[in-house]
Order: sequence, then structure tokens, then C-alpha cells
Amino acid sequence: MNKLGFGFLRLPRQDAQDENSVDLKKTCELVDRFIALGGRYFDTAYTYMNGGSERAVRETLVKRYPREAYELADKLPSWKLKSREDCGRFFEEELERCGVSYFDYYLLHGLDQENDDLCERLGAYEFMKELKRAGKVGKIGFSYHDSPELLDRILTRHPEMEFVQLQINYLDWDSPSIQSAKCYEIAVKHGKRVLVMEPVKGGNLAVLPEQAEKLLRAEKPGESMASWAIRFAASLDQVDVVLSGMNTIGQIDDNLAEKTLMSERERMLLGEAARIIREKTAVPCTGCGYCTEGCPKQIAIPRYFALFNEYSRSPKELWKMEFAYSDVAKTRGRASDCIGCGACERSCPQKLGIIGYLKEVRKVFEKNG
Ligand code: SF4
Ligand code: SF4
Repeated sequence: MNKLGFGFLRLPRQDAQDENSVDLKKTCELVDRFIALGGRYFDTAYTYMNGGSERAVRETLVKRYPREAYELADKLPSWKLKSREDCGRFFEEELERCGVSYFDYYLLHGLDQENDDLCERLGAYEFMKELKRAGKVGKIGFSYHDSPELLDRILTRHPEMEFVQLQINYLDWDSPSIQSAKCYEIAVKHGKRVLVMEPVKGGNLAVLPEQAEKLLRAEKPGESMASWAIRFAASLDQVDVVLSGMNTIGQIDDNLAEKTLMSERERMLLGEAARIIREKTAVPCTGCGYCTEGCPKQIAIPRYFALFNEYSRSPKELWKMEFAYSDVAKTRGRASDCIGCGACERSCPQKLGIIGYLKEVRKVFEKNG
């Protein structure tokens, strides 16, 4: 059961604070290992790492492997479209950045109600069909962040879409905001293949609260927490690809190790683990970074939420997180700089109340001014 895809979203960096500083040497090593172990599917997007992801695809994969050795997925940034012409402009730029003449999979990126309306109005769905007819892309589909009801309407309107990319993991399976299970059922109802994003929830399911980890270790002592999460998504019948944003060789080895189908008992244990995790996670942020692009104050939102979560798990180590917070705030806006404009909340796929959470962050990390 090898369904693993390599998501080029969280590549190793030379400078942890600089999204553009992809460490190409390390990324080459990761690509080599992934392909050596049988991996084929690579996923990138126009906006990932401010364009650094697509350029890394060209340097570490395209220039070093024959085209038939891998499948490449890229995405049209739906929320950036202002005209029909933009569709073609972004597509050509993506081909050039990646250094390829076609994509095996091409997606409308990040559909929700607003972006679906935009794509309809500007003819982006029609554009996708034209690309397919012209042989410039293999399969067409979309990545999705909204309700099951809207997904049903989109798939009814657009039966030509061949697959959907959904956020599926055991923590979001029954969550009222993401509704992974219901969205998956809709995709199945329409006979669509499913690609999974965020199976480890931005790394949040790789390290669990002690009580949840104990529960899973008692069942399978040798299995990593990330492997449990990947196996949950990969065990779903309609799922073809499970994307993981890996940045160490150890993660690749672990994720690509032979995996068994998940049993009913194991699913039940994950349900219990999810309950414990929810109790212990202060901010369920995946670290995707979509919120930072439009922030007028350049606030390092995901970084601050990660520190806040670390603090919530280990309050005695506050001093470490305070130190890291001050370091990041030397070059980025602080939580208290937020003016409440709401741009971040509109782009957050997890629908988080970012402004409110930043107030909590400020109380903890800026109490001394
Ligand atoms: S609400 Fe605050 S954090 Fe969000 S984009 Fe505006 S200034 Fe930035
Ligand atoms: S706050 Fe939302 S958009 Fe920002 S990194 Fe977290 S999950 Fe992504």
C-alpha cells in the first residue's frame, strides 16, 4: 500500500526564517531517497514557498530525472485570478518555473465558496477543460476547503473534474469545521478519486500528547505517530495519493515503510487519541502559511501559534518559547501589531479565529512589554 506523494510545501531551508531559501542540496537528497524507495508523485503550487517550491522542483527533480520517472502536480492559484487571461499567464509561468512542458495533474487551488464563484465568473473551469483537451495536463481536479454541501454542488456542476484533493486526517475526520468524513463521502458519491492533503496536520500528528502516544504505543510499540496518521488516510478505498511534506530522510523512510490496512480497532483507538489531542491543543494551526501573505503587519502567525502550542504543552519551559518569540519578532510583526483587518482569517483553510488567538499569544509572550 504505497500511496505516498511528496508535497513540496515544507522543504528544508537554509535560513529558517526565509521561505525563499530552499536548501537545494538537502532537497536533492530527499528526492533521491523518495524515488529510490519507489515514490513517484510530487506536488507543488505557484504560491508554495513564494515560488521557491516550483523552482526547487526544476532544480532537484526535473533537471535530474527523466520525465517518465515521476508524476508532477501543480495548481492554478484561484484566489489570485483577476481575468480569464490570468489563467493562461499563471499556467505558462508555472511550466517555466518547473521546467516542464506538461503537468500530470493540474488543480484549481484552494476552492471555497468565494474562489469557486471567481473561477465560474472568469471561466477557470473552462480553461481547465481546454488544457486537458490540448494535452497540456493529464488529469484535472481541485483542492478544496469548504463544506460538503458546496462540494456536492461543484461536482454536480463539473463532472469533468476527475479528482478532488481533500484535507483528511483522523483529527479532522469528524471536526465540525473541516468535515473530512462528509467531504470524503461526497467525493465517493460522485465517483471521484481522492488525493489527501495534511494527513499529519502540518506535523501536529507526528508528536502527540503523552497520554495519546501511550495509547497508540501500547497497541503497536514500533510504529511512529506519523505512520499511524498516514496509514489512517491511505487505508481509505477511494484514496490514490497521500501527500506528506517531508524534510528529513528519516521521515521519508518512515512514511514509505510498508503499511498495513487500518483495522476497526485501530480506527477506534485513533478516535480516542483525537479526543485527547483536541483537549491539549491550544491552536489547531497546520502551519500552511496562507495567512501571512496578505498581512499588512507581516506577523509571523504560524510561527507564533507553534510556539503558543509548545507553551501550552510545556508551560514550565515558557522561557524557551519567549526567547524564540523575541527572535522572530526582530524581523516580523509582533502579535500586538495586529490591526484586526481580517485578511488572514479570510485565507485560513482551517477557518481559525486568528485575531482572537493572537490576543492570547500576546498575553503570554508580550506580558513584559
Ligand atoms: S488581522 Fe492582524 S494578523 Fe490578520 S492580516 Fe490583519 S493585521 Fe495581520
Ligand atoms: S493560521 Fe490558518 S492559514 Fe495560517 S498557518 Fe495556521 S492554518 Fe495556515
